[in-house]
Amino acid sequence: MADKTKKNPDAAGKMPVLFIGHGSPVNIILKNDFTRALAKLGRELPKPEAIMVISAHWLTRGTYVTCMERPRTIYDFYGFPQELYKIGYPSPGAPGQAGLVKEYIKKVPIECNTDWGLDHASWAILKHMYPEADIPVFEMSLDYSFNEWDPKPLQYHYELASGLAGLREKGILIIGSGNVVHNLGLIDFRDINAKTYDWAVEFDEKLKFNLLHKNHRELINYKDMGEEASLAVPTLDHYLPMIYTIALQGKNEPLTFVYEGFQNASISMRCFRIG
Ligand code: ZN
Repeated sequence: MADKTKKNPDAAGKMPVLFIGHGSPVNIILKNDFTRALAKLGRELPKPEAIMVISAHWLTRGTYVTCMERPRTIYDFYGFPQELYKIGYPSPGAPGQAGLVKEYIKKVPIECNTDWGLDHASWAILKHMYPEADIPVFEMSLDYSFNEWDPKPLQYHYELASGLAGLREKGILIIGSGNVVHNLGLIDFRDINAKTYDWAVEFDEKLKFNLLHKNHRELINYKDMGEEASLAVPTLDHYLPMIYTIALQGKNEPLTFVYEGFQNASISMRCFRIG
């Protein structure tokens, strides 16, 4: 059982920030090293007042936060076992905390959304971290509007995300949910344990190095990390939530890996925690 008396937030007065590689929705019903690591993390973290997930699966024109009292579970995946579509995540929403995002970010307007909900970038991981679904959750979208094929530059997102730092002092657990290596075109859908491509391992190792050395500049300019970058990050949707997480790293804050590994040959499941 989680210790509900644990001080909120942690001793330093700041909630940690997470990046979670969510991978295939099938993980929702699996018990593997990855899902066990998520469950352990949920038990270890100070209990949040609310959770904000920056979702790789909510791409918008402009930036939105969900403001409803009861977010619906969104089944934004197709062709998976029927069992998955019967599971829900009935956590309350957090319109009050979502409103704080509008206050903290002044550079661009943050819009309130009342018809999205929790897509699988949120509930697939929270189902393991907080199975009781008793903590209020809201989502933040990714502005993909520069044009349809070329979203706003990563530097833009990095600067936007740095404005969210104050939320940590309000007991809000910020989670970037994506995957740092994510190539759907080359994925092995049938076998979650399929042999990982060499280029995926190489890019993931470079990324690990840059995370550990706080080389944010290199992570923003990821195309310069090597020719495998175009295979590892063919589109920005799953990489961007990681940029939001590192933008919140304080000067002397440690970064630790919660999980490292691969699934389906072309997906890095790397997860980390800051603070
Ligand atoms: Zn995804």
